[in-house]
Amino acid sequence: MRATARRCKELVNGAGERRWLCTLASMSHKFFLPLLFILTSLSLMAQRTPIDTSLHIDFESYDPPSSLVVPEHHPMSASFPFVDVHSHHWRMEKQDLHKLIREMDSLNMQVVVNLSGRGGKALKGMMDNINKSGYQDRIVCFTNINIRSIDDPDFLEATLAQLDYDASIGARGLKIYKSQGMTNTDKAGNRIRINDPRLDPIWAKAGELGFPVLIHSADPPAFWQPHDANNERWLELKLRPGRKRGPDNPASWETIIGEAHDIFRRHKNTTFIAAHMAWYPNNLEKLGELLDDIPNLYVEIGAVIAELGRQPRAANRFFAKYQDRVLFGKDSYKPEEYPTYFRVLETDDEYFPYYKRYHAFWKMYGLDLPDEVLEKLYYKNALKIIPGLDAGMWEGK
Ligand SMILES: [Zn+2]
Repeated sequence: MRATARRCKELVNGAGERRWLCTLASMSHKFFLPLLFILTSLSLMAQRTPIDTSLHIDFESYDPPSSLVVPEHHPMSASFPFVDVHSHHWRMEKQDLHKLIREMDSLNMQVVVNLSGRGGKALKGMMDNINKSGYQDRIVCFTNINIRSIDDPDFLEATLAQLDYDASIGARGLKIYKSQGMTNTDKAGNRIRINDPRLDPIWAKAGELGFPVLIHSADPPAFWQPHDANNERWLELKLRPGRKRGPDNPASWETIIGEAHDIFRRHKNTTFIAAHMAWYPNNLEKLGELLDDIPNLYVEIGAVIAELGRQPRAANRFFAKYQDRVLFGKDSYKPEEYPTYFRVLETDDEYFPYYKRYHAFWKMYGLDLPDEVLEKLYYKNALKIIPGLDAGMWEGK
C-alpha cells in the first residue's frame, strides 16, 4: 500500500492521463480487496453443507463411534484361573454341566459359585448332578432360605435345620437376595427389616457352619432418585420402569443398606460378602471406610465394573489398599460379557465402552492392576473365605 501511494505521488507530477490511472489504482485498494473477500466468502459458503442449528439429537440416539486411535487389547480369558463368587444357575439339577465347564475353561474360570442353590430338596438335586458329573471341585453352591415364612411358629427351628442339612449335602455358603429388606413382608404385610432380630440366630448359625453370607441389599441409589436429567440411571429407569422407587418405597436407600451394615457389625464371627461393592462402587472412599470399620466384610464387583472403569486411578488406589477384601463376581452368567471385565481389570486400554449403555453412558479405562492384586481378586481371597476350595487346583497354573 505504502509503495503504491509513493508511486502515485510521482505520477501526480506527470500528465493528466496518468492522474486518472492513479485514481483508479487507489480506488482498487479501497474497494477491490474487500470486494474480492466478499466474493470468495460467498463462494466458500456455497460449497459448505449448511448446519441446522435448531436440530436436537436426543441422549439415547447420540452415540458417535469413537475416532480415538490407541492400542487395544481384548483378553478373552483371565490371566489367572479365577473364582466367580456371584453366579446364578437356576436349573442346575438338570443343567448340562459339561457344557458349563467347557465355557468356564475357555474363560479360565476355575470355580463358579452358584448362589441359587435354593436349599433342601432342590439343592440336593443340584448337588447330585454336580457329583454325578464329577465337578464338585469346580462348581460350588450356596443355599437360600425362605424369610417370608418368618411368622410360622417353627420358622427358626426349620430354617436352622435346613442350614444343617444343606451343609451336610455340600452347600458352602448362604445367599440372601435383595427381596430381603425390599419385598419380603410378614403375614401382616409389614416389611421384614434386614436386621430383624428374629433373624439373628440365622446369621450366627452361618458363622458356626463356616458359611460366608453373600448379601445383595437394596439397589443402585439412583433408583430412589427423581427420574430427571440429573439421574445417572435415567435410561435404565426409562427402559426398566419397574425399578423406579419413591423415596421411601419400601424405605429409603440409606435405611435398607444401613440395616445390612447393622448385621455385619453385630455378627463379627460371620463373614459377609456385600454384593455389587455394597452399592458404593462410585464412592470408593466411603466403601473403604466401611471396610475399615467392619473387618468381617468383603465385597465383590458383580455388575459394577463400569463404575471402576470410569475412575481407573481411584480404583487402582482402592485395590492397592483393600486388595485382601475384594472378590471377583459377575452376577448374570453370560460368557460373552466376561472379556469386558478382563479388559477393565487387566489392560491399560483407554476410552472403551461398557456393553450396557443403560448402566454406563460413559466410556471406560483399564485399571492395569498388578499381578499380586489380580491374584487376590481372582482367587486368593475366595480361597480364604469359601470353605472347601482346593488350593491345589492353582498349583502350577
Ligand atoms: Zn445376583
